[in-house]
Amino acid sequence: MHAPPEHPSPSSARPRARGLVVAVDGPSGSGKSTLCRRTAAALGAGYLDTGAYYRAVCWAALEDGFDLAGASSSAAAGERDHGLDEAVSSLARGLDLRVGTDPERPYVIVRGTDVTAAIRESRISAAVSVVATNLEVRAELIARQRAAIAAQAAQRGVVAEGRDLTTVVAPDAAVRVLVVVDEERRLARRALELHGSADAAAVDRTRDEVVRRDRDDSTVAAFTEAADGVTVLDNSGTLEKGVEALLALVGAALPVRTSSSGAQTAHDQAGARA
Ligand code: C5P
Repeated sequence: MHAPPEHPSPSSARPRARGLVVAVDGPSGSGKSTLCRRTAAALGAGYLDTGAYYRAVCWAALEDGFDLAGASSSAAAGERDHGLDEAVSSLARGLDLRVGTDPERPYVIVRGTDVTAAIRESRISAAVSVVATNLEVRAELIARQRAAIAAQAAQRGVVAEGRDLTTVVAPDAAVRVLVVVDEERRLARRALELHGSADAAAVDRTRDEVVRRDRDDSTVAAFTEAADGVTVLDNSGTLEKGVEALLALVGAALPVRTSSSGAQTAHDQAGARA
């Protein structure tokens, strides 16, 4: 058993980000997941990866034998298989899905199976847009994401990321950010993740996947341009710089709170942690 801290600080008695929602959008490879996890950890807040919901439904649909790869090529040609869309949306509505919100240890559990690693495989990345462009699936997953965000916000605050957080899922968030990154860096990051290398051949192989997925994704979520009131954060520099910039935006949005020990504000605290 852990001993309680000898001198609990006012901020440990009351999470300082409680009530706060930070909504972050950006394309794949923008580094937003690591950025958001680190920022949530620094704030003592929860973290929500909304892409994991779409990946989880995709994993379950493939598990159930749906031909998403075939659907992917017809969707690219502008044709949808309505029977498949209906079956997948019904699967999504009934899916036993749990998405962890601890920024230090995010997990995804589908029907009792831990799929945290499996949903990152390229077979999922290649097929997920078919699921994410299904509007009935989106309605279901957005409702679940909003419930998770509300629960986390009430407890300890939340940093939530995806493609449509600032515009659809949480347009009233106190902090709304669009993460952008230099194109070559974005491809290099994805190439390293997908192929374990960022050499020219790996980047070329990655280019197709990233460009196609962005194109498909942008038909249902406007994440390439910042909506009104959304701050653009350039994440082309180091992770530390990105976290510092996001924490500064959070600090500016947190209400001023004075503690019993003095007049330190939430803004000062967020800045000090950067
Ligand atoms: O962020 P990540 O690459 O894991 O997202 C996987 C897929 O989920 C995206 O390519 C997109 O199709 C979909 N997505 C979405 N809306 C979100 C988050 C992800 O459509 N808010």
